[in-house]
Amino acid sequence: MTQEIRTIRLWLPMHISRVNCYLIKTDSDFILIDTGSSNQRGELEQELEAAGCRPGNLRVIVITHGDFDHTGNAAYLRQKFGTPIAMHKGDLGMADHGDMFWNRKSGNVIIRKLAPIFMKFPQADWFTPDVLVEDGLRLSDYGCEGRVLSIPGHSLGSIGILTDDGSLFCGDLLDNTDKPRFNTIMDDPTTARASADRLKELAVKMVYPGHGAPFALEMIK
Ligand SMILES: [Zn+2]
Repeated sequence: MTQEIRTIRLWLPMHISRVNCYLIKTDSDFILIDTGSSNQRGELEQELEAAGCRPGNLRVIVITHGDFDHTGNAAYLRQKFGTPIAMHKGDLGMADHGDMFWNRKSGNVIIRKLAPIFMKFPQADWFTPDVLVEDGLRLSDYGCEGRVLSIPGHSLGSIGILTDDGSLFCGDLLDNTDKPRFNTIMDDPTTARASADRLKELAVKMVYPGHGAPFALEMIK
């Protein structure tokens, strides 16, 4: 089986940075990992269309974690494509009532008040996932040869997707906006380190982060 990875890079609000969505083309269908922020919905739709992804062949939308820049178009795409959304229950409240601090320890009062202003996740885009995933879940039912890994740290419900051919989609545990490293926003750094150590035991050939270009896992010290 071939699994072709297409990276869709979308701007965040106010062009502060960019976020990646990954469209994996399997033998006949697609799966989408993360959905970007709602400000680039049209661009995301164009990219999906250009790839040949349309209602009927998008099997699942997998969300690596509940932040608005990854979940922003999930509800919309579910409606348009009739595709289920899969995520980990550890981030449920981030998706179903738009609270990025749900289940997070960090974030002072000011950040908690300012976040909803800058991080656009309007109520119309809130959603309850159709599938709650756990560590080890195989994605074969969706035509993808790979599995879910629980990699908490950035958030409690953060997951990675590791394909059988060694591509790891790590969400925001690691990023490469400047150089390969842990994401600077980390709810629980000790847990994040344990998650990364666990990844090093696995057959990871290339890491595809939520932000920035792919890199080899050995570059994380
Ligand atoms: Zn992010």
